[in-house]
Amino acid sequence: MIFDEEINQTIRYIKPSGIRKFFDIASTKKDVISLGVGEPDFITPWHIREAAIHAIEKGRTFYTGNKGLLLLREGVCSYYHRRFQVDYDPHDNVIITVGGSEAIDIILRTIMQPGDEVILPTPAYVAYAAIIEMAGGKVVEVPLEEKDEFKLTPEALKKALSNRTKAVILNFPGNPTGGVMSEEDYAKIVPIIKENGIFAITDEIYAELTYEQKHCSIAQFDEIKDRVIVINGFSKAYSMTGYRIGYILAHKDIIDMCNKIHQYTIMCATTPCQYAAIEAVNNGDNDIEEMFESFKQRRNYIVKELNRIGLKTHMPQGAFYVFPSISCTGLSSEDFCEKLLEEENLALVPGNAFGDAGEGYVRISYAYSLQEIKLAIEKLEHFLSNYR
Ligand code: PMP
Repeated sequence: MIFDEEINQTIRYIKPSGIRKFFDIASTKKDVISLGVGEPDFITPWHIREAAIHAIEKGRTFYTGNKGLLLLREGVCSYYHRRFQVDYDPHDNVIITVGGSEAIDIILRTIMQPGDEVILPTPAYVAYAAIIEMAGGKVVEVPLEEKDEFKLTPEALKKALSNRTKAVILNFPGNPTGGVMSEEDYAKIVPIIKENGIFAITDEIYAELTYEQKHCSIAQFDEIKDRVIVINGFSKAYSMTGYRIGYILAHKDIIDMCNKIHQYTIMCATTPCQYAAIEAVNNGDNDIEEMFESFKQRRNYIVKELNRIGLKTHMPQGAFYVFPSISCTGLSSEDFCEKLLEEENLALVPGNAFGDAGEGYVRISYAYSLQEIKLAIEKLEHFLSNYR
């Protein structure tokens, strides 16, 4: 780089996403099967697409208010009430963002002061650590363990606290582990959050994908509700990744401050896509059920097959990822994925892309057709035969 010293030094030293790095290599090869990307393979249900088309046809092509269309904010609040028994006010407690991604960015920039620490249970979605650092904060990783079903335990949370802790990130169901927290699990960490006066940032983007129990939002705990910041969006539940619509639910004071960043940098989320999201949130419950059944079938199949071919895989309770251990091969997760890509043309994501605690694992997304999943299992089985 010729501008080494002239650019922002925090940005300079942030590692590029370990997922993207890998897929850039994969994209240069022919006939690669990829189970790497975390996006549903369904085309958005027609009535939702139609709502976007209709909005354009009707000339709804102008900016909306900064916080998003009131109809959408109302829809989001009634959705949270209906599905997760949490009440928010559409005027005060909601901001519509450009995907969950913008939500993560603006909430961290809103609360972080230089040197503040954020507790990040890892393996974690790749964006959190980078955004915490870009917001001037320090990441404090807490390893989640397979023996605890990748849940955050009260002991682990307590150990990571310091007098600089500003927030803890919760992502259950989680990317990449599929870990889920039940009401009883949350009940053990809620008093710690309350006593220490920290924020709980809960990314609930996979809330509709919990297989054995209904999703529990930590926002259901009234005693800390003011300290809970919910992030969610339309990408995963309705297969709407390309629309880029997400939201934050939080106390009015937090939303008003987030809105300052949002109004100067983004103005508002895309208008026709907000109309599509209104249709999804008001009339999309059946679409969620249909996609859910299909994901559940794929999850059961892939976990059974991975264990059969010798990769020890715990049964994830949520999201659409499995996180098999590759320790039987003696390879590091990066070596495993590189060799697999080289020898079998199969692209997976190395576990260490999600933090040090992910070493010894790989992430496989099963948001792909059963046919692709079957082919990938054949390739993996063939690959593993060299390591026995
Ligand atoms: N949070 C998590 C845990 C994710 O896995 C993703 C996308 N993979 C996002 C947030 C961002 O999603 P989007 O910006 O499409 O809403």
